[in-house]
Amino acid sequence: MRKKIVAGNWKMNKTFTEAEDLLFGIADELQQGRPEDVEIVVFPPAIFLELANDVATENGFFAGLQNISEHESGAYTGELSAAMVASAGGSHVILGHSERRTYFGETDALIAKKIDQALKHNLTPVYCCGEVLQEREDNRHFDVVEKQVSEALFHLSEDDFAKVVIAYEPVWAIGTGRTASPEQAQEMHAFIRKVLAGKFGDAAASTAILYGGSCNAANAKELFANADVDGGLIGGASLKAVDFVTIIRSF
Ligand code: PEP
Repeated sequence: MRKKIVAGNWKMNKTFTEAEDLLFGIADELQQGRPEDVEIVVFPPAIFLELANDVATENGFFAGLQNISEHESGAYTGELSAAMVASAGGSHVILGHSERRTYFGETDALIAKKIDQALKHNLTPVYCCGEVLQEREDNRHFDVVEKQVSEALFHLSEDDFAKVVIAYEPVWAIGTGRTASPEQAQEMHAFIRKVLAGKFGDAAASTAILYGGSCNAANAKELFANADVDGGLIGGASLKAVDFVTIIRSF
């Protein structure tokens, strides 16, 4: 049985009191009813991790960070290590998000090192992959995603690979309101699983592959209904408690 996961990427949003309101709002909403078999994770800005982790632990969900350093520790001003996240109670980390690739020049080789750091400190990496619009229009989306997946993950042992969650996030769908159709999502998720099976065998059948890109309370149900879509990584719609929990209830 694969895990079902709904995760909220807050990006660089919310002040301290707004973060408190959102976290307690999510907790209140969850008390009105939640599917017990869905793992829920929030990814607030790093400065709110401890707060998020306190609320999450009391209310049956998890908190993590949107990025970590590839280094263990040392003179890297402004960076946060996997060990710090783990010691503050964080459980997951988003790696390879398209905004990190585009604005911070992150490559698959660098992301592979971050994945190693995450695994070393028992954090669950949520590895993001996905093509830009031009690549889809040129019918290169499968090649692009296969390369991203193989370059960032194929060095892992089967045991470590089994700890990784994947998020397919077509870049043209992130924050644009232009969601992948359920057919496009299913087609790519099945393709990713096939690529993973080619390297890791049966373990790929247990990998949770989330969809991300303008997934919201109105379209989550038809996306999650697909055989290889195991949940969602949610940006904009995770910033409102009611919308986020409606998405969680869409399974
Ligand atoms: C994201 O940034 O991971 C994301 C999926 O954003 P949005 O839901 O806003 O498209």
